[in-house]
Amino acid sequence: VMMPFGLTVLWFVHRGMAGGWREAMMASTVVLAMVISCWVMHASSMPYSYLDALLFSFILVVGNLFYSLRFPYALGATTLSVAIMLYCVATYAPMPMDIKRLAVFAIVAKALFTLLASYRLEQSERLSYLLLLKETLRAGDFQRDNQQLTHLSQTDPLTGLANRRQLESMVELYWQRAMEKGTPLGVAIIDIDHFKAYNDAYGHLQGDQCLCRVARALRQHSRPGHLVARFGGEEFVVLMQDADESQAKQAGERLKEGVAALALDHQGVEHGCVTVSVGIAIATPGPLISTVRLFSTADQALYQAKREGRNRCRMVTLSP
Ligand code: GH3
Ligand code: MG
Ligand code: MG
Repeated sequence: VMMPFGLTVLWFVHRGMAGGWREAMMASTVVLAMVISCWVMHASSMPYSYLDALLFSFILVVGNLFYSLRFPYALGATTLSVAIMLYCVATYAPMPMDIKRLAVFAIVAKALFTLLASYRLEQSERLSYLLLLKETLRAGDFQRDNQQLTHLSQTDPLTGLANRRQLESMVELYWQRAMEKGTPLGVAIIDIDHFKAYNDAYGHLQGDQCLCRVARALRQHSRPGHLVARFGGEEFVVLMQDADESQAKQAGERLKEGVAALALDHQGVEHGCVTVSVGIAIATPGPLISTVRLFSTADQALYQAKREGRNRCRMVTLSP
């Protein structure tokens, strides 16, 4: 008798439905099971059929423990079921008094114990859920803090460019990549010309502003995939991966022109505006070439640019 109703409810629950509806439908199967059981007992003509009443309490075990109904629904379904059962037992004449007492004791005791178990189960489920949520949130916070710290430790606070720490780790990575692909790696060192004189003339705060403007221009005029970093003081580095000689030279010229195009006043120097000198070294990784050699060659190229009058770009190609 229960089967069609029970299967329909299971089908609905399985398809997924709002929590309240799901609990109400499942709770209603508990009450219905009790009504049907009482009805079958009343309708039976078998001798000792009243002994069935001793087993009715198992319906509550299913509802409160197996279904794990939420506590308010478990309480409602249990109260209603116990009331139906008590009425059924009280009005069933063939049942001897001793059996009635036993059946009432069984149903009331099972109702109390299963409700208590259902309540404790729900409490511990809620607690585990909250603990899990707390841990998840905390893990998210740690991850965010970690990302922020990593970002801070690798960024130059004044210009927002990569700092020297990031540059050093990226050089190794780019060099490794160039080695694997057999492509060249270019290093450009860019130094602001007569920057000490700029500070002396305009003050250090204005000098800081100038550094920021130059940094932005270098970023704007470098190719995507090239790393622009502040090397220290008024010196910057651009790592140029996958650029051949002529592309590296062009990139250096573009950076130099980009800074000059800012037209930042710098009276007292020959060009009348802020300029940079650029030293570039380019090499394809080989047994005799290291990143240290690449940097010192770029540095020498920079000195050459300075010697030759500044606001220019010099390049050296290292052969393997
Ligand atoms: P050159 O053309 O030969 O490079 O001359 P220069 O004056 O640019 O070079 P020098 O090494 O003599 O001076 C660099 C100046 O850069 C000195 C220093 O005060 C300034 N400087 C370094 N870091 C900062 C900074 O963070 N802010 C400011 N405002 N100035 C800085
Ligand atoms: Mg310098
Ligand atoms: Mg300088």
